[in-house]
Amino acid sequence: MKTLLPTSTAGSLPKPSWLAQPETLWSPWKLQGDELIQGKQDALRLCLDDQQQAGIDIVSDGEQTRQHFVTTFIEHLNGVDFENRKTVRIRNRYDASVPGVVGEVSRQKPVFVDDAKYLRQLTQRPIKWALPGPMTMIDTLYDDHYKSREKLAWEFAKILNQEARELEAAGVDIIQFDEPAFNVFFDEVNDWGIAALERAIEGLKCETAVHICYGYGIKANTDWKKTLGTEWRQYEEIFPKLQSSGIDIVSLECQNSRVPMDLIELIRGKKVMVGAIDVATNTIETPEEVAATLRKALQFVDADKLYPSTNCGMTPLSRHVAYGKLQALSAGAEIVRKELQG
Ligand SMILES: [Zn+2]
Repeated sequence: MKTLLPTSTAGSLPKPSWLAQPETLWSPWKLQGDELIQGKQDALRLCLDDQQQAGIDIVSDGEQTRQHFVTTFIEHLNGVDFENRKTVRIRNRYDASVPGVVGEVSRQKPVFVDDAKYLRQLTQRPIKWALPGPMTMIDTLYDDHYKSREKLAWEFAKILNQEARELEAAGVDIIQFDEPAFNVFFDEVNDWGIAALERAIEGLKCETAVHICYGYGIKANTDWKKTLGTEWRQYEEIFPKLQSSGIDIVSLECQNSRVPMDLIELIRGKKVMVGAIDVATNTIETPEEVAATLRKALQFVDADKLYPSTNCGMTPLSRHVAYGKLQALSAGAEIVRKELQG
């Protein structure tokens, strides 16, 4: 990456209102059949254009072709029953109706590879592609087959690795695994979660990232955060093991969070995507607020390893607010870039 402080987003961005209900998670599609396929591609192009206009350096598909960051991937797998849903508690926090694992899981065909090829031909900028992480996948399902979270995570890791290798071949520069579950199940993360993640990145030559956040800005998550006290030290539990893992980049929630910034010292040597945009408020950060967060992070991350980003995905926000936040991120990064370059 040539640019100092290259900006990116954690993942999802709002969809146009003609494609899906705005400001809604798991929003149903408004189009069908060929119109839906075309609509998703159009949305992807618009979303790329928004990112480029706002000055984002590492671009993504904004997850325009997915209904949800976990379930859409799982929908493409064998061994999962989407008809008979069950309600489970996700990340010990909120209930959701989810599909079940009823047999051996496998990938029928590539899931996002065509989308990645499409994005690749539209832009010269580096591309980051998000996939769900193995632990977060198992936490968004019920399992009537493997009866073991670890075993199922391992199977998903193998499938994710197949997909990741094809995304790399399609020209993706950074493959990111979303693991919000890493902030909840610390013992499992250390026992097998990071091992599963390393299985998912096995053999990849492109850069790899893990995104660990406190979730979308939905009520269940903001209510949970209120119970976490004045200092959020969750990252501390998993950083030592992550530091010694093969993952290149760690994506963290830092803006308006109560995470003590000095915890980042524990992953010294890794590149850090510092969340400098709060996705749980419609208030658009000022560039100076973004810059202040980045300056704080610079105490614990070398400048050439700091990647300014958002706390999490922005799909639940309005397009207007999300675009303003992208602009603020770019402008804030530019302030600090100029300071660094003297
Ligand atoms: Zn997130």
